[in-house]
Amino acid sequence: MADLERQLKPYRDQFPSFPELPKEGLARAEVTGLVERLASAEERTWREGYASGAVYHGDPDHVAFLSRVYAAQSQSNPLHPDLWPSATKFEAEIVAMTASMLGAGHAAAEAPVAGTVSSGGTESILLAMKAYRDFARERRGIAAPEIVAPVTAHAAFDKAARFFDMPLVRVPVDGEFKADLGALAAAVTERTAVVVGSAPTFPHGVIDPIPEIAALAAERGVGCHVDACLGGFILPWAERLGYPVPAFDFRLPGVTSMSADTHKYGYAAKGSSVVLYRGRELRQFQYYTVTDWPGGLYLSPTFAGSRPGALSAACWAAMVSIGESGYLEAARRILETGAAIRDGVAAIPGLRVLGDPLWVTAFAADDGLDVYQVMENMGHRGWSLNGLQRPAAVHIAVTLRHTLPGVADRFLADLAESVREVRSNPGVSTGMAPVYGMAGTLPADIVRQLLTGYLDMLFEV
Ligand SMILES: *Cc1c(COP(=O)(O)O)cnc(C)c1O
Repeated sequence: MADLERQLKPYRDQFPSFPELPKEGLARAEVTGLVERLASAEERTWREGYASGAVYHGDPDHVAFLSRVYAAQSQSNPLHPDLWPSATKFEAEIVAMTASMLGAGHAAAEAPVAGTVSSGGTESILLAMKAYRDFARERRGIAAPEIVAPVTAHAAFDKAARFFDMPLVRVPVDGEFKADLGALAAAVTERTAVVVGSAPTFPHGVIDPIPEIAALAAERGVGCHVDACLGGFILPWAERLGYPVPAFDFRLPGVTSMSADTHKYGYAAKGSSVVLYRGRELRQFQYYTVTDWPGGLYLSPTFAGSRPGALSAACWAAMVSIGESGYLEAARRILETGAAIRDGVAAIPGLRVLGDPLWVTAFAADDGLDVYQVMENMGHRGWSLNGLQRPAAVHIAVTLRHTLPGVADRFLADLAESVREVRSNPGVSTGMAPVYGMAGTLPADIVRQLLTGYLDMLFEV
């Protein structure tokens, strides 16, 4: 948190601030100048591959291409298909291309894979959970439908459970950080609406045993959501490249829904994801319609009303310009770099790779070495990595930025140096390390207060 204040300060001090509207509008050139200065100040970290995840493509020509498509469609709003039929074309094709990539061709004719575009992985997950809740209530007569998910499933499932008042049953993972099948089977009851598996998980980048989870769900007559937000646009190509990828998509009859983020490895701009269902009926439980509103007949497929059609246009443009060959080549580079980083981390004395990941590598430290201090030390070297907990660990999600020459080697050299430095200087810490260290020991409501205060800080001008 101390770190955040330090990072925000220059932006608040060195650039003009607007706690209220300027009396007279600024000249456009002045505004664009300001915005561009801000962007270039922030750019180095992600452009040179110092960030985990965050920017998944980021080549200047790709960014310019997306921006040009966005500019051409900037007024578009899919809420008005009569005004922007092009938006519906883009979205229908984004959904169809994603579905086809994820095994939709194997679905039975009476239950074709159907979906919608959403604003991101979290919204895709929220939408699916809401659909399962309403389906369970209306079609299965379950009064309080539950979600069953491994502890490693994304926090968006907690959010969904809270927002939609669905009990969330979290089950442990095994020594490889994959869903424990016995625990999962024991947690499924007559109240279960949906069982969740991740391909792969956000924290450790490992793929849950999806064929077994899907079979369990089918046998018990419950839904099975595969969260492929992270892997949806990598795993189909990884499989083709010969990596050990178990079936994880609609080829498995028990899989009833999936989420896949176009704004991650689909290389679209942020604000875009796809949620897919086996059968149009389940998708209908996601929709919202109002028949008696004075404002007219109202219908919307997702949580938002008006939506940015330009983002769907840019997403569609990314997909059709990259194509199968482009995604395959991108996956090849990412998986090769991911393996080099995973093996390189494993070779650093004092660090330990968790599970058997493909391109998202989580590592913990041996006793006597604080992995959060290593993360902080990496921060001083310009790296922005993700802190994990339970157990204490740090991860790096490899993107195309890390496949540029020299980046992976620089990461491994810096990491080895950080480990050496922290070892010879333990206990010296200024930033997030103590917060992470404390989070494991403080009562949950104190940690909650800290996080809430952090969010408050983001909205101070
Ligand atoms: C990123 C991610 C999400 C959430 O996606 P957002 O786009 O950040 O809302 C969900 N699940 C997994 C596995 C992810 O990696």
